[in-house]
Amino acid sequence: MNVIFFGPPAAGKGTQAKIIQEKYGLRQLSTGDMLREEVSSGTELGIKAKKLMDQGKLVPDHVVIDMIAKRIDSPECAKGVIFDGFPRTVAQAEALDKILAERGKKIDIVMELEVDQNKIVERMKKRAAEEGRNDDTVEALKTRLHLYNDYSAKVLPYYRAQGPVPKINGNQPIDSVTVQIEEVLQPEAVKTTGHARQ
Ligand code: AMP
Repeated sequence: MNVIFFGPPAAGKGTQAKIIQEKYGLRQLSTGDMLREEVSSGTELGIKAKKLMDQGKLVPDHVVIDMIAKRIDSPECAKGVIFDGFPRTVAQAEALDKILAERGKKIDIVMELEVDQNKIVERMKKRAAEEGRNDDTVEALKTRLHLYNDYSAKVLPYYRAQGPVPKINGNQPIDSVTVQIEEVLQPEAVKTTGHARQ
């Protein structure tokens, strides 16, 4: 079962992906986490990406597409993947469809986490204090939110054209958001793996 968590920065995609990963034996693939690893390891890619990330801008499509393509065949991804923060452009969405199709797979569910703007700012401030991310600044946040509105307006219709994209109310406490996500996932999990959560 392959799932996409779509939603603005600090919507709780990563938090929920980690919970669902454990419960369903799926693998969370977060391009943001992968890029932060490249940055902290000081790789050439990381050095290039850091500049864009600190400003809240997107890194080039081919960079994130390559990262996903490299990981998709790992044994941890065998039961399926939760894509978190990817795809962010139609080119990435098309590349993902191609990568999956070549492996006889597809995206089974796309869901959209909706969070109010004031809540996003509140969470971002909390995360900045806790994790010290360079892109959790007011300036970078503005760019990231603006970009999100821009790319969601293109990527969501791409998926809506293929089927329903259920909305999840991400303003609620973590547990309640997980319950909503599971309501969407359970029927698909039963269909694709023959059993519900682990
Ligand atoms: P995130 O943790 O998902 O908010 O990602 C942090 C930053 O990494 C973003 O602001 C972008 O600079 C970069 N990034 C992560 N995922 C992508 C993606 N799919 N496409 C382009 N840039 C990305």
